[in-house]
Amino acid sequence: MDTFDVVIVGSGPAGLGAAFEISSRDPGRSILMIDKEPFSTGGLRNDCKMNFTWPIGFPENVWTEADGLSYLARVESFLKPDLMDRRNMDIYARRASKLGVRLLEVRQAHLGTDGGLALIKDLTAELARRGVSISLGETAGRVEAEGRILVTDRREVGYRDLILAPGRGGFSFLRHMMNDLGIPFQDNAVDIGVRVELKEERYAIVRDYYDPKFLFPKKTRTFCTNSRCAHVVQEKYVTDDGRIWYSANGHAYSASRPANGLANFALLKTVTLTQPLASGQDYASMLGVQASLIGGGHPIMQRVGDFRLGKRSTREGFSGDLYDFEPTLPSACPGDLGLSVPAKVLRSVWNALKLLDTIVPGVLHPSTILYYPEIKLYANRPVFRDDSFQAAPGIRLVGDGAGTSRGITGAWASGIRAADGILAGC
Ligand SMILES: Cc1cc2nc3c(=O)[nH]c(=O)nc-3n(C[C@H](O)[C@H](O)[C@H](O)COP(=O)(O)OP(=O)(O)OC[C@H]3O[C@@H](n4cnc5c(N)ncnc54)[C@H](O)[C@@H]3O)c2cc1C
Repeated sequence: MDTFDVVIVGSGPAGLGAAFEISSRDPGRSILMIDKEPFSTGGLRNDCKMNFTWPIGFPENVWTEADGLSYLARVESFLKPDLMDRRNMDIYARRASKLGVRLLEVRQAHLGTDGGLALIKDLTAELARRGVSISLGETAGRVEAEGRILVTDRREVGYRDLILAPGRGGFSFLRHMMNDLGIPFQDNAVDIGVRVELKEERYAIVRDYYDPKFLFPKKTRTFCTNSRCAHVVQEKYVTDDGRIWYSANGHAYSASRPANGLANFALLKTVTLTQPLASGQDYASMLGVQASLIGGGHPIMQRVGDFRLGKRSTREGFSGDLYDFEPTLPSACPGDLGLSVPAKVLRSVWNALKLLDTIVPGVLHPSTILYYPEIKLYANRPVFRDDSFQAAPGIRLVGDGAGTSRGITGAWASGIRAADGILAGC
C-alpha cells in the first residue's frame, strides 16, 4: 500500500493552497493530491474572479477579521494578482445608500475561464516539479480512521494527515464521510435565487466595476457578475436518490476574447432554516427538482416583461421586438418563475431588482432574463476541534464543501490554514 505524509482530496483552490504551503515550507514531506475528474479541475476553471477584500469569501463563523486579513495577505502574496481598477464608485454608493443598500468595494482580479485554465496548468506543473504526486480520475470513497487509510476507487492509500477539500460538488461525499466518522455538523443554510442576464449597456456599472457587490435588505445580494464575453451555464446536481436537477451559473472569458455585449449576475437570498431543523442541502435539492419538473428537465427562464405582466414566457414569444437578445443558455425552458420560486425568495429578489434598477437604471428592461434556480450549497458546517479545521484526528475538512470558504481566495486561505496546523504538528 502506498503511504504519504499528507493526502489531499480535491485539486481546487483549497487543496492547492494546502499543497503549496506544505511543499514550500517542508519539501521533504510526501504529498499525494487526488481528484475524481480526469483533468485538474476545481473552481479556478470557472471564470476565476479572485476577491482580495475581507470578508468576501470568508464565512465569519469560522474566520475572525484578524485571521481572515492575515491569511488573505498570504494568498495575495502567493498568487500576485493583477487587480482591476474601479471608477465612479462614489456615484453608485451614494445612490445605493439612499435606498438602504450597501455597495462593497472589492479588490478583485479576473482571469476568465480561459485564463483560469492556464493558471491551473502552471500551478499543477509547479507542484509536479516539487515532487507532489497528482492522481487524476481517482475518486475518494471512504476513510478507515483507525488505520489512517483512505479508500479510493483504485486502491488503499495510507496517510499521516488527510485534507478533504471536495468543494461544493462534494457536499454529499463530505456529508457521508462525516456521518461515518462521527463528526458532528450542521447544514442549515443555503443561498437561493436567480441568474440575471441582460445587455451590458443596461448594466453599465460593469464598465466601472467588474463584479459589483450590492447588499440589499433581507439577506439578498448580487454575486458573481460577468461581462464582456459572458455566458450563462448550467451545473448538474444529482440527489441522493438519483434525481437530476440543474443550477444556473455564469462565467466570462478573459478580455482577449471578442465581447458579446451581454452581462449576467446572480441575485441570491440566504435562507437559514431553524426549527424544526432541516438540511439546507435537502431543501435545495427539493427546490431544484421541482424547478426541473416545471422546466421539463431544464432550468426555467422568464423575461422581465412577462414576469411584470404575470404571464409565463413561451418559446414563440421569447425573442423579437423588445426582447432583443438571445439567451446564452438556450436549453433553459421559457416559463413562469412564480410557479417554482418560494414566495419569500421571489419577493426579496424582486425587491432587490427594483432597488438595483434605481441605482443602475436599465436592469429591469423587459428583455432582461431571469433564470431559476441558482442555488449555492456550501453550508456543511462541521464542528472543528482546532483552528486548523481538524475535525477528527489527522483529518481536516476545508473549502466550500466544508463551509470554511465561499470563493477562490477563501478556499485557498483555508488550505493554508490546514497546512499550518499540519506543519505545527497539531
Ligand atoms: C460556474 C462557477 C463559477 C464560479 N466563479 C467564481 C469566481 O469567479 N470567483 C470565486 O471566487 N469563486 C467562484 N466560484 C466558486 C469557486 O469555484 C469556489 O469557491 C472554489 O472553487 C472552492 O474551492 P474548493 O477547493 O473548496 O473546491 P473546488 O474548487 O470545487 O474543488 C474541489 C475538487 O474536489 C474534487 N472532488 C470532489 N469530490 C471528490 C472525491 N470524492 N474524490 C476526489 N476528488 C473529489 C472535485 O472534482 C474538484 O476538483 C465559482 C463556482 C462555479 C461553479
